[in-house]
Formats: sequence, C-alpha cells, structure tokens
Amino acid sequence: MAEPFIEEHTFPEAWMARALTLARRGRYTTDPNPRVGCVLVKEGRVVGEGWHERVGEPHAEIHALRVAGDAARGATAYVTLEPCAHQGRTGPCALALVEAGVTRVVVAMQDPNPQVAGRGIALLRDAGVEVSVGLLEEEALALNPGFVMRMSHGRPFVRLKMAMSLDGRTAMRSGESQWITGPQARREVQRLRARSSAILTGVESIIFDNARLTVRPEQLELPEGEALAARQPLRVVVDSRLRLPLAAACLREPGRTLVATLEDHEPERRERLEEAGAEVVAMPAGADGRVDLDALLQHLAEMEQANEVLLETGATLAGAMLEAGLIDEMQLFVAPTLLGGEARPLFELPGLSLMAQQKGLEVHDIRAVGQDWRITARPRRRTGSAVTLGEERRGQVAEGVLR
Ligand SMILES: [Zn+2]
Repeated sequence: MAEPFIEEHTFPEAWMARALTLARRGRYTTDPNPRVGCVLVKEGRVVGEGWHERVGEPHAEIHALRVAGDAARGATAYVTLEPCAHQGRTGPCALALVEAGVTRVVVAMQDPNPQVAGRGIALLRDAGVEVSVGLLEEEALALNPGFVMRMSHGRPFVRLKMAMSLDGRTAMRSGESQWITGPQARREVQRLRARSSAILTGVESIIFDNARLTVRPEQLELPEGEALAARQPLRVVVDSRLRLPLAAACLREPGRTLVATLEDHEPERRERLEEAGAEVVAMPAGADGRVDLDALLQHLAEMEQANEVLLETGATLAGAMLEAGLIDEMQLFVAPTLLGGEARPLFELPGLSLMAQQKGLEVHDIRAVGQDWRITARPRRRTGSAVTLGEERRGQVAEGVLR
C-alpha cells in the first residue's frame, strides 16, 4: 500500500486539474448553476470522482461520494468550487463530505456569492476537516466567468463574437452580409452559443440578416462525454423603438425571445409583438435615449439568472456596449478576405478622434480555426472584470484572507 504522503505532498495540482477537466464536461448543461468537478483521492489513488452534470441533478461532490462509497473515509476531496452549505436537492455537500468521513478538502475557489462565501468551508472546519483554498484558482475562475460575475457583481459576463475580414470589416455598407468565415469557425460560434445563457443582439441585425440565433446541435460536434442542454439560450433583442418585424424568423424558433424596449413605448405595437411570440420587457432609457444597456444586463442577471451572454450584433450596439465598458471578452474570427474601406467596421465609436482615446485590448489567445483565425481579447482592465476578480482573489489568498 502506498504511503499517504504520496497523495499529501506530490501532485495536488494534478488532482485539481482532473477535477477541472471533469467540471468542463458540464459546460453546456449546468446553466444557471456553475460547472463543478470533484475528485476523491486516498493513498495516492482516485477512489471516486464526479461533476455536476445538469441543473436539477446532484452536485459534483455527491456523484464522487457515491462512486467512492466506504472508500471516502479518510480521503482528500479536490473540489473546483467551495462545497455548498445550503439545503439543496441533495442536501449541503459540505455536510455530505463530513458524514462520508472525508478528512481533508482542497478547494480551488471560494463561493463567489458574498452572501454565502466561506460557509461551506466553515462547516467543514467546524467538523474537524482540514481545508485549504486557492489551488488552481485562476483556472477555476475561468471555468465559470458568468457565474462568478453574476454572483459578485450582479450582471452576466459578456462575450462579444464577431466575424471580420482581414481589413476589419463585417458587412457591406448597405448592410448586405453573408458568412465570410469557414465551417470550423461557424462550429466554434455554435459552441459559444451553446454555453451561453443568452444571446444578445440589436434589432438591426434581425432586420438585415433575419438571424435565428439558435443552437443547431448537428453543427456542434460535441466531444465524447459532453451533452447539450435541452433548452435554447434566451434570445434578447435590443429594440428601443420596437422595430422588430412580426415575421422575424427568431420568433418562430424554439425557446424564448425577449425584446428590450423603452418604458411605455407603443403599447399596441408591443401587444402585436407579444402575439407573435415575443416577450417584451420595458427598460429605462440611458443617457443616449436608448435602452439602458447596464440596466438590461442587470435585468438578465436578476430575472433570467443569465451567467454568460453572447453578444452577436452589428457595429452600433457593439460600439455602445464597448463604450459603456460592458464587454468582458471578444472572440474575433478573422477571415482571409478583404471587404474594402466602404464596408462596415466592427465598432461604431462616435467621438473617437484622438489617438489618446483609442481602445486598448489585451490579446489572450490567437489560433487558427480552419482557414480563419480566432483572436480572444479583453478590453484593458477595469474594475469588476473577471480578470480583475481573479487578481483580487489571488491578492486575498496571498494575504491569507481566504485561509
Ligand atoms: Zn453542493
């Protein structure tokens, strides 16, 4: 039999990495819950593992404990998120770990909800379980950017997706557009949609493209062991003046279409849209007299439990979102083609005329996707972004706040 020190002192990162890999299998199915994985290790061996597979089903720890059975006694649990202390469908996971005789728990990150953060850890410690927090925390944060953002800042994580030519253009000036990227890039877009709680667009995108904004399972090519949620992401159309055509294709697709408009705007038109299948929600006006985008995102977090929102839209709404500091990540697909100087840009940024006003980006990843390139970038740091969150947390870990 292996000496316990092998498990205690050699590869804690490897066990946590395994738990993170398991958690990722729930990326399309746990929403609005977070993706969580758990590995139970005893004497250098995995005795049980599991992940949160689907909203409404048991949490990761419960799956792992069921696999381990009696072998959980004296084991170490590696969990990607603080075990819950609240009474859920399968009871508090922290209590289940205690009752199963787990003696040590390694947590990647604390619960991001300030109302409950630390309670699961306290429950474990009060029961005499040794707990450490912060192993591979950055990776754990990256696994659930939307859940973390919603719990800590009351709004979703917004990811912008755009397809552009090598000269940074998206469509012709007339609005005429067509797919300029190849099938692999389109598959990636399908995956981005599938992991999102909602897809946000402007009414002009619907008027010009009649976009359906749905996940098409046959285009996803899911990896082995991964499933898809039964539901479609919520479609959200920003439509300050209620111009959405009653015959819009998205209104006939499965799933819900939410139209965000201004308060008290044209009740008759509103009624007709509702008859056509839309849900109309009134929003306050922002400084520009259009739907207040910040208020809309808060609404999506509070009322729709939206974690990740995919912004698929044209230059006007994309520019307004960027200007308002509401874009957390950009996924830009670059096609090897040129559309010329009269074609539409990525962002409409009126008033940007000096170099000093330029919008700096941090590029996190560039990779080939078939014939195209995908650039993952984030607007330069601002308070409340997932990046900043990770850094704040790491600071706390360094100072021992979370220990
Ligand atoms: Zn739980």
